[in-house]
Amino acid sequence: KQRNPHEPEFLQAVEEVAETVIPYIVEHDIYYGKNILLRMVEPERVITFRVCWVDDAGEIRVNRGYRIQMNSAIGPYKGGLRFHPTVNLSILKFLAFEQVFKNSLTTLPMGGGKGGSDFDPKGKSDNEIMRFCHAFMNELFRHIGHNTDVPAGDIGVGAREIGFLFGMYKKISNGFTGVLTGKGMSWGGSLIRPEATGYGAVYFAENMLKTKNDSFEGKNVVISGSGNVAQFAAEKVLQLGGKVLTLSDSSGYIYDEEGIDADKLKFVMHLKNEKRGRIHEYLEKYPNAKFVKGKTPWEVTCHIALPCATQNELNEKDAKLLLQNGCICVSEGANMPSTKGAIAAFHKAKILFAPGKASNAGGVATSGLEMTQNSLRYKWTREEVDNKLKDIMSNIHDACIEYGKDENGYIDYVKGANIAGFVKVADAMLAQGIV
Ligand code: NDP
Repeated sequence: KQRNPHEPEFLQAVEEVAETVIPYIVEHDIYYGKNILLRMVEPERVITFRVCWVDDAGEIRVNRGYRIQMNSAIGPYKGGLRFHPTVNLSILKFLAFEQVFKNSLTTLPMGGGKGGSDFDPKGKSDNEIMRFCHAFMNELFRHIGHNTDVPAGDIGVGAREIGFLFGMYKKISNGFTGVLTGKGMSWGGSLIRPEATGYGAVYFAENMLKTKNDSFEGKNVVISGSGNVAQFAAEKVLQLGGKVLTLSDSSGYIYDEEGIDADKLKFVMHLKNEKRGRIHEYLEKYPNAKFVKGKTPWEVTCHIALPCATQNELNEKDAKLLLQNGCICVSEGANMPSTKGAIAAFHKAKILFAPGKASNAGGVATSGLEMTQNSLRYKWTREEVDNKLKDIMSNIHDACIEYGKDENGYIDYVKGANIAGFVKVADAMLAQGIV
């Protein structure tokens, strides 16, 4: 706390891990007394840089770029880039720290990193986005590489931005390598990568429900967000027989009592991905739905909740309301969407609760599969990648059970994910000595 006084999100993420991992370290001599967690919370490298670009009106703009290279014990740094006005060091360090554990859980050889900028893509023209991405990569390129650090997308960074970033990297490095993931299908991308985070969060929830002999069939599902993760979480819920009641963005949420079916979801995808519109525009096409301005959707009665927007979007009050309304399962698609108080409430009620570092790991896992395909110069089919994704989510679920099941049979997925993620990275760090 003294070392990072202005980093509340980072401290929150570290505390959550420390609470479960420190007792484990104390019980295991190989980790005890090695200051291993202290080493893990200090990023290996933090890079910040100036990004200057010119807007359509000819004005010179200045943003701040970042890359946090958190831990490379088990592989090259790997983690997304976020473009959002709220981006700061605390948020990126929390995301990079979470990423280390998440990547370890996937069982693939990837270290952890995260980066981005306080640049706001909202309302910018395609040309402005391109000029910003090119300017950003003009500096970032010297710090990354397919064997060093492999960035991907996150909030505000989708297929369009990855294209512009890749184009500039390729030009200045004079090489076509798998330096970014989330690439287009005709230039090194992997099938299922766009779907992977949302699908993975639903596969994880499916695994959790199975432990109770239950499934998505006939369940009411509340989803927040309407970006990449939320859209494909919704698609998979529909395929598994669930009913999607809500989607949201930073202006509020839509509630469609009749359910957001496949056609309506297609409309949302077009609205958000092509038109870059706001979620309330859903009502122009489907006037029976409701738009609730400035609120999150947790007040809607549901069986399953999938927070897929952003950090700390579901607080203790929301959690209690969800529980009161009969919610039995929460699977986080976003990173750290539930506050500490919310997680405590879910644990107290002993419902199925999966933290993002386990349940949203499908995205980075499929990025790992994209890296493998790039190295092989080969492309797997949709079914092959989807089956690998399902297997990975199921293996992560097993790892959570191994380290998180208590004597009464309750599975603490937070504890399970933290310890399982920790063990692999800690073992590698110990083997590599004090570096
Ligand atoms: P997108 O940019 O595609 O979508 C983000 C969605 O969340 C939008 O609907 C956005 O609304 C909403 N949102 C963003 N910030 C806020 C806020 N402060 N308050 C309320 N709503 C907000 O991002 P992704 O779908 O890719 O990412 C969503 C979450 O999933 C993030 O936490 C991300 O870190 C996590 N994640 C993403 C992965 C991926 O593969 N993409 C992988 C693993 C985790 P608006 O349009 O109004 O801003």
